Amino acid sequence: MTPRTTTTRFAPSPTGLLHLGHAYSALFAQARAAEAGGDMLLRIEDIDRGRCRPAFEQAILDDLAWLGLAWPAPVRRQSDHMADYADALARLQAQDLIYPCFCTRREIQAEIAAAGNAPHGPDGPLYPGTCRGIGAAERDDRIAAGAAHALRLRVDEAGRRAGPLAWHDAGRGEIAADPGRFGDVVLARKDTPTSYHLAVTVDDHLQGVTLVTRGDDLFEATHVHRLLQALLDFHVPAYHHHRLVTGADGRRFAKRDKAMTLASLREDGRTPAEVRALAGWEATP
Ligand code: GLU
Repeated sequence: MTPRTTTTRFAPSPTGLLHLGHAYSALFAQARAAEAGGDMLLRIEDIDRGRCRPAFEQAILDDLAWLGLAWPAPVRRQSDHMADYADALARLQAQDLIYPCFCTRREIQAEIAAAGNAPHGPDGPLYPGTCRGIGAAERDDRIAAGAAHALRLRVDEAGRRAGPLAWHDAGRGEIAADPGRFGDVVLARKDTPTSYHLAVTVDDHLQGVTLVTRGDDLFEATHVHRLLQALLDFHVPAYHHHRLVTGADGRRFAKRDKAMTLASLREDGRTPAEVRALAGWEATP
């Protein structure tokens, strides 16, 4: 059943300190929830165990509270919910829509280089499908022998079965989903048994998120998420992708821009109101 109250979420990864771009995104998520009388949830996206740090997670909580944001407990931490992603993978597996991919990054690059003009998607050249046709016996042997592998979606077949799909973006209107532009996306990585695309789609469903707000840099990813929702019979949230905050040089902020982290702005004696203004929030909510 589709939940009725408006629920948004802010979903940072604890791989660094929050900067002004995150502040804008969190304020945006909270404002969209508040104007509809709903809640903004906070989710910690920490599936990348090699890059995430508990200290950054604590800093996220401290910085957001300092900025004046509030969220209901409990905070969902993705690494605590791997069983949910495994369930979703098992359901896709049962539909024969995923396959193991044994390729290394280098092998994929070599294959793409050899192909000459490989098709490109939003994240770069598409996976050339090397492992898609490996037979069941060879696959099982390699897995039994302990070969490291990712799991990829058979995107063409999945798209055919799902049929035409669309989503509503508050800024851009009705968007026809075109998940094929990413090729056979990874749904479980070699180093962790899920991926960004799978984890956010499962979480947004399980947490009853009705309005996904996030930066324009993730607009394209929604094509894939919409397909996964259809395959997994999930409710479909509305979307509102917002503009990205840029610095004086026109570049968007990144975790390496230390001076623009909320922590260093706080240390410099800036107030929450000043930081909201620096993030461009007052000017263009
Ligand atoms: N965890 C992602 C990030 O920090 C955001 C995911 C999302 O909003 O869908 O960029």
